[in-house]
Amino acid sequence: MRYRIAVVGGGPAGLTFARVLRRHGHPVTILERDPAPDARPLGGTLDLHEELGQRALDKAGLLAEFRALSRPEGQAMRILDADGTVLRDWRPRPDDRAHPEIDRGQLRDLLLGPLDVQWGRGVTRVVPGARDGVPVHFADGRQETFDLVVGADGAWSRVRPAVSSATPTYTGVTYVETSLDDVDTRHPDLARLIGDGSVAAYGVNRALVAQRNSGGHVKVYAQFRAPLDWHTNLDPADAEAVRSSLLALFDGWAAPVLGLLRHGTAFVHRPLHVLPVSHTWTHVPGVTLLGDAAHLMPPLGAGANLAMLEGAELAESLAARPEDLDETVRAFEERMWARAGRWAKITTAGLERLVSPDPAAALALFDQVQPS
Ligand SMILES: Cc1cc2nc3c(=O)[nH]c(=O)nc-3n(C[C@H](O)[C@H](O)[C@H](O)COP(=O)(O)OP(=O)(O)OC[C@H]3O[C@@H](n4cnc5c(N)ncnc54)[C@H](O)[C@@H]3O)c2cc1C
Repeated sequence: MRYRIAVVGGGPAGLTFARVLRRHGHPVTILERDPAPDARPLGGTLDLHEELGQRALDKAGLLAEFRALSRPEGQAMRILDADGTVLRDWRPRPDDRAHPEIDRGQLRDLLLGPLDVQWGRGVTRVVPGARDGVPVHFADGRQETFDLVVGADGAWSRVRPAVSSATPTYTGVTYVETSLDDVDTRHPDLARLIGDGSVAAYGVNRALVAQRNSGGHVKVYAQFRAPLDWHTNLDPADAEAVRSSLLALFDGWAAPVLGLLRHGTAFVHRPLHVLPVSHTWTHVPGVTLLGDAAHLMPPLGAGANLAMLEGAELAESLAARPEDLDETVRAFEERMWARAGRWAKITTAGLERLVSPDPAAALALFDQVQPS
């Protein structure tokens, strides 16, 4: 392919795009803002669906490696009420490969493989419309021009303004994330509560979810409805102050469930933002978006999956029809919008039911998606 192609962002979308394009023999420049692969913690575990993320890995030739790394047993899910009563205790069959879990770091390393990422290359803006390509501006003041710039730079994308004026808005739901290490040896009671996969307890406008990662690491998410500025008087670095205010928010919940907060280490504030459901834009030659940059939605197990499949599909389309770059991208966008729009509706409705005034709504949703 004679085109100069750049992807901005080395997350699930950008790396899958680059990996599949490379598999078809086409070079791509990967521009990533993080200064190094281990510059920051990547967050919790991801479940990759057979028909989405796993299909993308298949297109990248990485499905067998994924199967060796991922945790099918991590699909197990236990549901409690705020009193700690077990309402559901679902375990996958040993051969169930529908949504195995994988740590984000493991997935990133798997996708990185032989790719040559340009680390520390934060993009500030992209300016389509020039005759010789699309100039990309960097935080260090430099500029480079490409024929196609793929914005895979996440929720607060710097590429998105080149095609759309949409910006993320707050959902009214905040997650505060904390972690437990060596859970099996240091907190055996919590390890039993969590099981092999996840445990979720639902109360009125509140939920506590814990997910096992590999190596005895657990991520805990306190989820609640609150104004965006609920924490303005809290120093996020003061773990004890954050813990106390969370324990006050979950006052009255069963002690074993609150143990997930009592033993958590550092706390990370994650207010949930979304782009409009069915976000589309008027096609702009030379620029497109993938993943959260295109369709940020509530984190109900779809975002990384969609991001990866889109990356794989755009790469395959470009490899198959390199003669008309613009038409290929335009057709890809139509397909992406249709699928992402369906998932944005599902996840938006799902968030309403999971963090809801009626905890029975969360249980009903679980029964709908995970019939025994
Ligand atoms: C708590 C939580 C749990 C989740 N669980 C799941 C799950 O189980 N399953 C699932 O499918 N999804 C899940 N998601 C959603 C998932 O994390 C995202 O949808 C997914 O990471 C999107 O991938 P992406 O590549 O589009 O963006 P990102 O993962 O955000 O990657 C963007 C990359 O771009 C880089 N970047 C940003 N700005 C710039 C810039 N200006 N210049 C250069 N580089 C830049 C970033 O450093 C990053 O590496 C969850 C989300 C949250 C918050």
